[in-house]
Amino acid sequence: MELIIYILILILLDNYDFYKNINIISDTNITILINKNNKLSNDYIPYDLEPISLEFSCKDKLLRHEARISFEKMAKDAKKENMNIIAVSTYRSYDYQEKLYNNYVKNYGFYYAETCSARAGHSEHQTGLAVDIADLTLDYDNFESTKEFIWMKNNSYKYGFILRYPKACFHITGFKYEPWHYRYVGYDIAKYIHDNNITLEEYKKRNLWFLYNIFINKITNTINIMNNTISFILNLIICLYILNESLNTLKWDPLLLFIYIVLISISLCLIWFLFK
Ligand SMILES: [Zn+2]
Repeated sequence: MELIIYILILILLDNYDFYKNINIISDTNITILINKNNKLSNDYIPYDLEPISLEFSCKDKLLRHEARISFEKMAKDAKKENMNIIAVSTYRSYDYQEKLYNNYVKNYGFYYAETCSARAGHSEHQTGLAVDIADLTLDYDNFESTKEFIWMKNNSYKYGFILRYPKACFHITGFKYEPWHYRYVGYDIAKYIHDNNITLEEYKKRNLWFLYNIFINKITNTINIMNNTISFILNLIICLYILNESLNTLKWDPLLLFIYIVLISISLCLIWFLFK
């Protein structure tokens, strides 16, 4: 039922606010917010990915250094209480996420895919800070019914991990409830988010530093666009000046005239393309 409501929201509200006004995020801080409005570039690969011990993960599962250390500590402490915390999905590349999302669309349709799979660049798994968890069955879909889930709910924040997509937060996070998906943000922020029962999106909105970064990002983007436009106009003026000088000095030649007409047409097309 919940899922049907989400799909209706996406259809009726034209994908809500998601995938609109997208910021390209280049910061590599562990507090990085990646969601349907904040995107990583296709060549972003965290520089400090490390494999998790096979005692606590499936084969070849990578997390960033700090997240890997904390995850292993968490899984080790859980084991002392007879809990088996296993990482079944961690870092995913841009290309892999693209294939995954396209498969969801192909198999389940666009709107269903939008509730549970991120488009390439918009997946937290590309940050190397997110981990999907299961117990020994490795069946993360049923993680909510395990004792390990209860343990994670009460303890994960102590190791810097938060439940990233809580129940009934689709309008904020853009994803349906995922009891298996945890995100490393560091102890202080994880504790704040846990104690206040909020999402990472809400935490970021309360954080002035984040707002400052978004502001600087927007200013930089605007300056870049202005820079490109000004240099294009200057280049065009120089070209037209040279063209005018040549026209004055050269005798009319049908071939040259043809080249000039082509050049002017291309320039006009470029102007139209830039300001349309
Ligand atoms: Zn996940």
